[in-house]
Amino acid sequence: MYNVTSLKAEEFISDEEIQATLAYADANKDNVALIDEIIAKAKERKGLTHREASVLLACEIPEKIDEVYTLAEQLKKDYYGNRIVLFAPLYLSNYCVNGCVYCPYHAKNKHIARKKLTQEEIVKEVTALQDMGHKRLAIEAGEDPVNNPIEYILECIHTIYSIKHKNGAIRRVNVNIAATTVENYRKLKEAEIGTYILFQETYHKKSYETLHPTGPKHDYAYHTEAMDRAMEGGIDDVGLGVLFGLEMYRYEFAGLLMHAEHLEAVHGVGPHTISVPRIKHADDIDPSVFDNGISDDIFAKICALIRISVPYTGMIISTRESQAVRERVLPLGVSQISGASRTSVGGYAEPETEEDVTSAQFDVSDQRTLDEVVNWLMKMDYIPSFCTACYREGRTGDRFMSLCKNMQILNCCHPNALMTLKEYLEDYASEETKKIGMALIERELENIPNPKVQRIAREHIHDISEGKRDFRF
Ligand code: SAM
Repeated sequence: MYNVTSLKAEEFISDEEIQATLAYADANKDNVALIDEIIAKAKERKGLTHREASVLLACEIPEKIDEVYTLAEQLKKDYYGNRIVLFAPLYLSNYCVNGCVYCPYHAKNKHIARKKLTQEEIVKEVTALQDMGHKRLAIEAGEDPVNNPIEYILECIHTIYSIKHKNGAIRRVNVNIAATTVENYRKLKEAEIGTYILFQETYHKKSYETLHPTGPKHDYAYHTEAMDRAMEGGIDDVGLGVLFGLEMYRYEFAGLLMHAEHLEAVHGVGPHTISVPRIKHADDIDPSVFDNGISDDIFAKICALIRISVPYTGMIISTRESQAVRERVLPLGVSQISGASRTSVGGYAEPETEEDVTSAQFDVSDQRTLDEVVNWLMKMDYIPSFCTACYREGRTGDRFMSLCKNMQILNCCHPNALMTLKEYLEDYASEETKKIGMALIERELENIPNPKVQRIAREHIHDISEGKRDFRF
């Protein structure tokens, strides 16, 4: 039985409810009166339920889909402005005891190079990342209680935060590690992580069990209930995601929104972010063996629908996507992207060559440098942001959401983005990027509505040219 507030996976992600939702969506995909009603509700910025959003996903009427895209663009502008937050993944270890059939880290893969960073190697990796200009990382690791126990992850986080190289600093570490216990989530919280990210991979229980045939990740309920344990452990920024391509996208989309509704209903705060990874080629993995790959059109539609269904939830696109796809979905609601990512263990300090036995998790489609990504964003009138202020000011969970809901982003996130961009330009940018960036900052300062905030931001930006760092609202 479907129960949004239940703490049991099979009840808050009820297969019955998803099947009923898909049938309802099919029955109503041409019901223009209902579709108009749903779009009108989304226009009021009230978000959409999984049923409502699923009707729009099933709908193929071109004018209605265009309305959804226009609305997604508007909501993106209103809540996130033109800022795009940048981060990089850092792979700590690819030792893994699980059998995930789509992931090259699976335990039976004997031809991938197994690596685990030592603390000295982490210093090298983080120094390389700081030298690019990164301030936010998402750490990634396989699941292996012997090689990657929680103590190892905690030690890595501690090392990462302690590295201060030139003007560099990693100010926010998000964590993408396997589902764990409340006690371990508490330890991660104490280690001052940002968001805890865990992709569901698929919400379809039967497929989940087939796709994860062995290892602790096989347990669907333990995995699906992880975010509740994370929140019980005190982490109030959690990031959801589905690995698109594994199961039918309409099923996953409904499951994803039901998960968001569940977190909101039980904990009073929805997911901080939603990621939309698509399955990629990797060592030992041929994505074409999975039958449910989605086209770029469907991908864009999903991004737009996530934006209008959960307007206050950030959306993340990784370098699994090409520059062209990223350009297409950025205006539809994406708020964070990774840049210059390496998915191999140790790949920032020592990039792998063709001859090396790879340790990478998947092939990246966007291989540009961070400077190229920053430059490209600014040429499209986005503000690349390295901001980490909310989390460092304790504006997590519902406190961040209320900032978003009260549309204070222009008086807070906007100046923070400009100040962190200025740091980037001073410390890491090429001459051309710096030139474009300085002009952009000048223009964008004018858009800060509160005169006092605008004046202070100008002063701080001036101080950054004089060598001062790390201002925030
Ligand atoms: N092992 C942890 C877990 O179980 O959640 C950490 C996550 S893993 C390092 C990061 C994510 O990469 C996975 O959750 C999965 O969705 C994604 N991934 C795995 N194989 C992939 C592939 N071939 N293409 C694209 N993404 C993949």
